[in-house]
Amino acid sequence: MRIAVYPGSFDPITNGHLNIIERATNIFDKIIVGVANNPKKSTLFSAPERIDMIKEVTKNLEKVKIQSFSGLLIDFMKSNKANIIIRGMRAISDFEHESQLALMNKRLAPEIETIFMVTCSKYSYLDSSIVKEIASLNGCINQLVPEIVEKKLREKLFNKNI
Ligand code: ADP
Repeated sequence: MRIAVYPGSFDPITNGHLNIIERATNIFDKIIVGVANNPKKSTLFSAPERIDMIKEVTKNLEKVKIQSFSGLLIDFMKSNKANIIIRGMRAISDFEHESQLALMNKRLAPEIETIFMVTCSKYSYLDSSIVKEIASLNGCINQLVPEIVEKKLREKLFNKNI
C-alpha cells in the first residue's frame, strides 16, 4: 500500500492544493493531508478550522484522510506508516526552499522519499497568502478557492474587522 503525506499549512486550502490532492489520488493508495499545527507560525484559521474546510472539499475522495500534526514531519510520517512526501512545485522560486526541505528530510529519514508534483499552470501563481490578501481587500477570489473556503474567508475577515 502506497501511503503518501501531503503536508502544509493550508491556511486556507486553495484550488491549487486541491488539484494536487486530486491528481495524487491517481498515483497513491492513500493520501494523508497533514495539516501543520505549529504554534510558532501564526495562521488566520485555527488547525480545526483548516481541517474542517479540507474535509468538506475532499469528502468525495475516498483515498484522502486529513490529520493535523505538530513536531517533525518525518515522525508524523512514521506514525502513519507513510514513506512518500508530496510537495507542489509552482515556479523555480519554490525549488530552493523545497530542495532544502527534501534534502534535510532525506538526511533525517533516508527511507522517506519526497515527490514533487508540478502545479497545473492555471494555479501556478496561487498561494494561500495572496488569496487572503485579495479577500481582505474585497477582491474576487472566485475560482481560486472552493466556494466554502471563500465563504469562510469572508466570515473570518469580516468578523475580524468588526
Ligand atoms: P507550507 O507552509 O508547507 O508551504 P502551504 O499550505 O503553503 O504550506 O503549501 C503546501 C504545499 O502545497 C506545498 O508543497 C506547496 O508548494 C503546495 N502548493 C501551494 N500552493 C499551490 C498551488 N497553487 N498549486 C500547487 N501546489 C501548491
